Amino acid sequence: MKTFANVDFIREITEAKCSSFSSQILAENCLGISTDTRTLKRGEIFLALEGENFNGHDFLDNAFEKGAIASIVNEKYSNLINKNSPILQVKNTLEAYQKIAQWWRQNLGLPVIGVTGSVGKTTTKELISAVLKTQGKVLKTEANYNNEIGVPKTLLQIDETDNYAVIEMAMRGKGQIALLTEIAQPNIGVITNVGTAHIGLLGSREAIAEAKCELLANMDNSGVAIINGDNDLLVATATKVWTGETITYGLKSGNFRGELINDSTLKVDNQLYPLPLLGEHNALNYLGAIATAKVLGLDLTLLQQGIEVNLPKGRAKRYSLPNDILVLDETYNAGYESMLASLKLLAQTDGKRKIAVLGTMKELGDYAPILHRQVGETIKELNLDLVLILADEEATKQIAEGANGIPSQIYSNHKDLISALQNITKEGDRILFKASNSVGLSKVVEVFIN
Ligand code: ATP
Ligand code: MG
Repeated sequence: MKTFANVDFIREITEAKCSSFSSQILAENCLGISTDTRTLKRGEIFLALEGENFNGHDFLDNAFEKGAIASIVNEKYSNLINKNSPILQVKNTLEAYQKIAQWWRQNLGLPVIGVTGSVGKTTTKELISAVLKTQGKVLKTEANYNNEIGVPKTLLQIDETDNYAVIEMAMRGKGQIALLTEIAQPNIGVITNVGTAHIGLLGSREAIAEAKCELLANMDNSGVAIINGDNDLLVATATKVWTGETITYGLKSGNFRGELINDSTLKVDNQLYPLPLLGEHNALNYLGAIATAKVLGLDLTLLQQGIEVNLPKGRAKRYSLPNDILVLDETYNAGYESMLASLKLLAQTDGKRKIAVLGTMKELGDYAPILHRQVGETIKELNLDLVLILADEEATKQIAEGANGIPSQIYSNHKDLISALQNITKEGDRILFKASNSVGLSKVVEVFIN
């Protein structure tokens, strides 16, 4: 970031108070905003955030030692602050951070693509980024910077050399996507899906759909909505809050239709596109990415040679082990819809035996028993060969009930599951691992593949 703003400008947009001592630096230029003294660069403003496990206000001395030009702090800590340091005091430092990020984004003319949905956000964000990268410089949210802190952080990293910004937006409740949308002001809003993730918090699928559609409700009407047309509830909810241009992408319905020619080829508008990731759900995610490229006026023929996508850990990862054993590692996370998508992928994989190693889907509240049971029923429909269940909650055992007829085994800890796996697996097995992140099934995969 070559130029940013002078300190007085930052004071003005954050409505900060500053002492007469601090006013000496108002005319100076600041080179950026940092919330982490470990990565702070000389000339930046340090903005102190308070989290569950840390408080940025404890690092003010550190920030000045590293060359911060000023610090933005919460006024409630004013008595703790060294009067000889340049300080801007605000009511709420997180809101100040968001205002600065919002101003910075407004300042830049590039198209911003916001991506939300119950599942497939990161995958779709990565696919869109990879597609746009064929024709420009892309800034995207990294890791899990998809919330009220991560989105401003990402926006503040955009610079004049970037052509596109792709921003993942996550939520745990009502109003959060609205806030992120106001900050990021996307020109394109992509909604991948409405499912049951966080149903325990929001109460119903309708409430989830409304929360996701806050992206459209808060987007400027000149923007474009790109939504999963195969999801009726999403389309119906979007229609209520959005009257602007809409692309509905889908394999079954929608105005931007894709057809799966085989496992690895998607046909759209009579053109063939090699799929960068396996599974029908990923074909749909890729279709959303192609739709985004089309809306942005990109040359789609460049995608016909195929693109490379490297997803973060635990998503669509495959490991080939000795004895022709194949591991599908989907342990990053699991909700009901992503569980079904991964089980389908396992069922479609060629191999002798198909084994699902599953753990709890978290945050389902009262829906937990029924949805775990339905996962079991799907296993039965798909006629898998064996299911191993790591049950850290009572509801998880319902998978075995639903799968009634398919051999199933329940384990209460990682150690027993690992030794069972080592005894059970045979040549030619295809083994899917999937559970919510906090179950720690990724550790089981790590031991098993090594
Ligand atoms: P989080 O809320 O944790 O950020 P996310 O929405 O970013 O999740 P991804 O990380 O892209 O989702 O994918 C998580 C899992 O969801 C994948 O491993 C895959 O099994 C599944 N998945 C991805 N896309 C879809 C889709 N369109 N439909 C159903 N399941 C999907
Ligand atoms: Mg994600």
